[in-house]
Amino acid sequence: MNLRRHPLVLALVLGATSLLIWATLGIAANFGLHPALAIPGLLWLTTLGLPTSFGVVVAAAVWGRFEPLTGFIGFAGLAIVLGLGSQAVAHVWLQRKAAAARAAGRPWKWQHLLARGGMGLFLATIVLWVTYRPPAPLAGAVDGHCHLFGDEGWPPIHKQTCGLSPAQKANHSYGLLTRLLRLPPTGDLNELYVEALVRQAREAQEALGAFRVVLLAQDCRYTEEGEPDWDHSSVYVPNEHVFRVVARYPDLFIPCPSLNPQRKDWEAELDYCLAEGARVLKIHPPTQAVNPGDPRFRGFYRKCAENGTRVMVHTGAEHSAPIASQTLGDPRFLQLALDEGCTVIAAHAGTKAFFDPPAEDHLPDLVSLVANHPRLYADTAVLGSQFRWRCVPAIVGTPSLLPRMLHASDWPFPSNALVFWHRLHPFTLVALTAEQNLFLRDLRLKQALGMPPDSFQRLDDWFPALESTPQDP
Ligand SMILES: [Zn+2]
Repeated sequence: MNLRRHPLVLALVLGATSLLIWATLGIAANFGLHPALAIPGLLWLTTLGLPTSFGVVVAAAVWGRFEPLTGFIGFAGLAIVLGLGSQAVAHVWLQRKAAAARAAGRPWKWQHLLARGGMGLFLATIVLWVTYRPPAPLAGAVDGHCHLFGDEGWPPIHKQTCGLSPAQKANHSYGLLTRLLRLPPTGDLNELYVEALVRQAREAQEALGAFRVVLLAQDCRYTEEGEPDWDHSSVYVPNEHVFRVVARYPDLFIPCPSLNPQRKDWEAELDYCLAEGARVLKIHPPTQAVNPGDPRFRGFYRKCAENGTRVMVHTGAEHSAPIASQTLGDPRFLQLALDEGCTVIAAHAGTKAFFDPPAEDHLPDLVSLVANHPRLYADTAVLGSQFRWRCVPAIVGTPSLLPRMLHASDWPFPSNALVFWHRLHPFTLVALTAEQNLFLRDLRLKQALGMPPDSFQRLDDWFPALESTPQDP
């Protein structure tokens, strides 16, 4: 079949190829995409696939902003329809123009079109070269949100072993992360994970001069009586494991134990964490099925405040683990901890994935809370990832939030520069999609998106680097 005689078939073939390239680049950008693949892919999407790209971008621009335009499957459906539709319309229009040119005795010649395209590309490259500004170097940084995971069988032993439930292993994040960190299906997962983590953190330290990482434990769910509830828990990383790893690399990691205030031994556990040197701890309401605004936790927060321990609380939507309810991510529940005098970090700044319902966007609630609470901070964890591309620009566009923002990656959840294509210089976009180190990719992406230098260094003041132990004479 001569495709030139069948413009609609040609349009559908080009459109389908473009959609496939969008999906492939989008997934591959999580893993680090070599420029030899990224550049031809991006060239295709901005030339032959331009009409399809237009349709995909329109779908992305409207999705999740209004009810009932929500959910990822619906977004994919709309992107396919609008992408193929735009490509078809463009081809019909081009065919008419070509026919008109033929009728006027000036038929299009492909040699001329190619020459013009080549010249356009050449000029565009020169403009890009002239306008590129490399990122300003940072005087060191602290990454405020990095996960330690492990697996020694399910159910784990409380306060001893790490575990991932069968439901957690069935979540899409498990396959993504094990592939990303090249973790083998067998072997000592705890140690292999630490090796991958330390390798990347050391690389970042060498690249930035000074770099440290806040390393997170993950407490489980508890029954009403405060006993571990393994039937409904999905991830468990005991505080003991975090302290052991931090003790091996004290120049690299800052411990952040996790404490579900519903556990009956919360006071003993808090004393243990304080004795181990914890200056921040984390609660994850949606996975731990706990409401951080429950007045029963007043004593817990008061003790944290008295001891100067910051409380980090997951806020906003959660998609990487089985959860009790998205409503538990509402930052307004932080009022109790703030009233008791705690310094609170709203992890993920109350944001949602782009396809979540508009009602799940709690960034505006966070902005109101920050205005009234000088001890409330927020982090940028996971906001560089493929479904959160509206969040960092919204934060950068809210000046009142910026003095309270803390840099955080959510390692090993990968940043994805491709979804920020329209906010990045093309050279930066290609360099960031190629970056294999997840700490550096995330940090440089947020820097390029306009997060202020202070946000990368604020935690350095909170957690002064350990002085080298004085030597006895
Ligand atoms: Zn996280």
